[in-house]
Amino acid sequence: MKEQIENLMQEAEMNLKDIYYKYDKIEEENSIKVLKAFKENNVNETCFNMTTGYGYSDLGRDTIEKVYSDIFKSEDSLVRSQFISGTHALTTALFACLRPGDTLLSITGKPYDTLEEVIGIQENDSSLKSYGINYQQIDLIDNHFNIPEIKKVLKEKKIKLIEIQRSKGYSTRKSILIEDLEEGIKQIREVDQEVIIMVDNCYCEFVDTKEPIEVGADLTVGSLIKNLGAGMASNGAYITGRKDLIKLCAERLNVPGEGREVGPSLGLNKQFLLGLYLAPSVVNSAIKTAILTSYLLEKIGYETEPKYQEKRADIVQNIIFHDKEKLIAYCQEIQASSPIDANVKPIPWDMPGYQDQVIMAAGTFTQGSSIELSCDGPLREPYIAYQQGSLTYNYGKIAIKNAIMALIDKT
Ligand SMILES: *Cc1c(COP(=O)(O)O)cnc(C)c1O
Repeated sequence: MKEQIENLMQEAEMNLKDIYYKYDKIEEENSIKVLKAFKENNVNETCFNMTTGYGYSDLGRDTIEKVYSDIFKSEDSLVRSQFISGTHALTTALFACLRPGDTLLSITGKPYDTLEEVIGIQENDSSLKSYGINYQQIDLIDNHFNIPEIKKVLKEKKIKLIEIQRSKGYSTRKSILIEDLEEGIKQIREVDQEVIIMVDNCYCEFVDTKEPIEVGADLTVGSLIKNLGAGMASNGAYITGRKDLIKLCAERLNVPGEGREVGPSLGLNKQFLLGLYLAPSVVNSAIKTAILTSYLLEKIGYETEPKYQEKRADIVQNIIFHDKEKLIAYCQEIQASSPIDANVKPIPWDMPGYQDQVIMAAGTFTQGSSIELSCDGPLREPYIAYQQGSLTYNYGKIAIKNAIMALIDKT
């Protein structure tokens, strides 16, 4: 059996060469972008110095934010370790932009699980809803924006902010490609020039050569323990976009009147810079690992999404197991092939912020980091594994090979 799998791996890599090449070119283009931003903003050794306490005049922090703005082609950015997570940054942006009586509209269906209590879809005494902020959602149809419905709603009533989540989260839909985002925003602008368009860009950074601000978004949000931290950032998140909105976000994160001027970097500037520098390459490794997974799992008879030859919007690979035990076995083998806690066996548990039990394989250097190879899935039909990351392609490949052997043992 081992030999058959070796042969299959070889065949896979032969057949995937052209697809890999396309992502190598994207990596190259993003690397050029990063290097240029470092140079133009004069990143130098003093940027590694840290501030403590209030964090006034943190040159490194302020430089990092300028580098982000260049890369995203945005007016301003907030890149902070004081953001606990991507959800925290998204929450900050929502509370910063919305006021009582305003309406938030999601046009990619139900948002990411952890936002349910933030918005008030699930009751919470501190939700947006508890402040009198309304919520409305429009589902995708056939994985595309429901443009007629979006236009109808925008014409009928004043919407303050539109949320667009590019990556699928724990859903079965497809993720949103940058060209589809561009078209959607164009259509929105035909009927509403004022609505704030906020994009949840988690898992999508550097998967393509354009980012949301370039196609018309007002705000873009993401986590640093995903793509842009490249396994180097120990925590943090970013918000980038319109200057006036970034100011509101800074005052919501920190203190009205102090805003972006405070927030000590506590020694993390070097991690953030190194992570950003490595991100084009690490994202490419994660994409190749995902493509290889899709190819191999399809060849041994499983349903995958996206298919290996499909254009990708993010680094997430779904494997649809239709079988609880296989989902668990796969995740457990990914854990067993991880650098950290390889001898720990993950079991399904009730994670805070999620509605179903979740099994989570994450033998990562940074807790919860999902640019590192990780695989998780809610324990509900059709038992989908959401796999993402891998800091290098070869570590990804080794883990997938082991996981496939574990699956074959199960059948
Ligand atoms: C990861 C993620 C988030 C935020 O998650 P955190 O775990 O809070 O960093 C939000 N939206 C999507 C689509 C994500 O993938």
